[in-house]
Amino acid sequence: MKINKKKYNINNNEITEISLVNKNNIKVSALNLGAIITEIVTPDIYGNYENIVLSLKNKEDYFENPSYIGATIGRTSGRIKDAKFNLDDKEYILSKNYGENSGHGGENGFHKKFMDFETFEKDESVGVIFSFISEDLEENYPGELKVKIKYTLNNQNEFKIEYSGVSNKDTLVNITNHSYFNLAGNYNESIKYHNLFINSDKILKLDESLAPTGDKIDVMGTPFDFNFMKEIGEEMRDNHEELLKASGYDHYFLLNDNDKVDKLKVKLGNQFSGREIEIYSDYKGVLFYSQNFTNKEVLSDGNILDTHRGIALEFQNPPIGKDEVYKEDSILKKNEEYKKSIVYKFKLRKLK
Ligand code: BGC
Repeated sequence: MKINKKKYNINNNEITEISLVNKNNIKVSALNLGAIITEIVTPDIYGNYENIVLSLKNKEDYFENPSYIGATIGRTSGRIKDAKFNLDDKEYILSKNYGENSGHGGENGFHKKFMDFETFEKDESVGVIFSFISEDLEENYPGELKVKIKYTLNNQNEFKIEYSGVSNKDTLVNITNHSYFNLAGNYNESIKYHNLFINSDKILKLDESLAPTGDKIDVMGTPFDFNFMKEIGEEMRDNHEELLKASGYDHYFLLNDNDKVDKLKVKLGNQFSGREIEIYSDYKGVLFYSQNFTNKEVLSDGNILDTHRGIALEFQNPPIGKDEVYKEDSILKKNEEYKKSIVYKFKLRKLK
């Protein structure tokens, strides 16, 4: 096992990229800017080690990063309808950075935070803990919120993300990571050919601004049924009204067994590379985004980002929709601890 550190200058700040490497040479790298995951390197079935997440060529580009590649999203992930919410009889107005809605923590969310960090090494794992303070009324969210983000990679090829936080006032918190996976190991291949399993029977219906309406849709018999491994491209272009609204998948799936952290929630596979990832989490659901848009970023291979090159699987509680529906799921009470985790298990398809 190893921990490597490399320094960069981003927006006149000295930023460190921390790489965690396990005994099987699986590597996870992250910046202390937004705890942004810059690469996850795993072997394919033939033993080729390649990066399986979208990453940017120039580290400076991670500061603006309009597609939130690899970034931590906070205080709240997803859209907040009409960019406002009420809490303890006060109204809070957020920035409208997603049309009429607020999205991904506002203009200066956690993806732009310069963080302190410390690394650790144990018998069977290596890791890094990022920490920072989100000030009272930062992006207009109430309460000074102290946040810790812990990344651990172990020798069983498991990568664990743990979010924790405490606020001195009641506030909203719903943190996720916005990595885009492409298990092919290169970005020339569309994610259409990935297979996906989601342990979910219901998605949240969206309005035209892609915020939840409060209604749920049964996935059975629709392109949203991933209760068995299914090729993503198979129905991505179906004319189901929900897919048309979002130009593909950009939907929140309510997970079954969300009270059981050890139950498989999502599995992603690519038959050509043989790579598979199993994902476990204690969040209520996952937002599956098939990267229907591009901001034409320059990727680490020098190519310009095309659509459908990565799959974002954003484990989080439901985003806040019409009439503040699902707000309760994002409320963190004063002095109580926020604690959530996401575990990725890197595997290979068994050879026949
Ligand atoms: C959202 C998409 C958005 C993307 C990049 C995703 O989490 O669900 O609607 O386009 O992030 O901002």
